[in-house]
Amino acid sequence: MSAIFLKLNKTKDVNGLDTGPGMLNRNVLVLNQNYEPLSVCTVKRAVILIYLGKAEIIEKHDGYMIRSVSLAIPVPSVVRLGFYIQVPSKRILLTRKNIIKRDGGRCQYCGENHGAMTVDHVVPRIYGGKDNWENLVCACIKCNNIKGNRTPEQAGLRLLRRPKRPTHITFIQQFVGISDHRWRQYLFLD
Ligand SMILES: [Zn+2]
Repeated sequence: MSAIFLKLNKTKDVNGLDTGPGMLNRNVLVLNQNYEPLSVCTVKRAVILIYLGKAEIIEKHDGYMIRSVSLAIPVPSVVRLGFYIQVPSKRILLTRKNIIKRDGGRCQYCGENHGAMTVDHVVPRIYGGKDNWENLVCACIKCNNIKGNRTPEQAGLRLLRRPKRPTHITFIQQFVGISDHRWRQYLFLD
């Protein structure tokens, strides 16, 4: 389908001014048919989906159009798929970096969000604690040292919240970031 884009003129705004090819690489929030946030794609990819009749525009960047000889499509901010996608559950890799990202770089014991962070096993390995999203949290060096090979209860520490596997919504919120205020209501931030 890339042939469509070979013929595509440069993106222009209402006054005919070129807003730059960068516009095509902007992020678009993709909603499932039931309006649940699904993923993020580029404007270019979203326009292909719209052109193929596979998605509709829910929110757009007012005044901005993508034009080709036979086509004029508003620059989308949020699109919704015309069909339902079954969401695969395992998508985000369990890594040290992703654990810290999920927790927003905030120690899950004391709330500190500055300085070097470590990853702590809530239930220590010696007690059979697993390497999974539910048992790994971001912890500052101080709390990690206090806790050592103990459970939070034994160490007199309390978790700020129960660690969970990130969902698509947390993935978009924390891993991609909110690049457009129009996304907020679909990500349940309002
Ligand atoms: Zn701490």
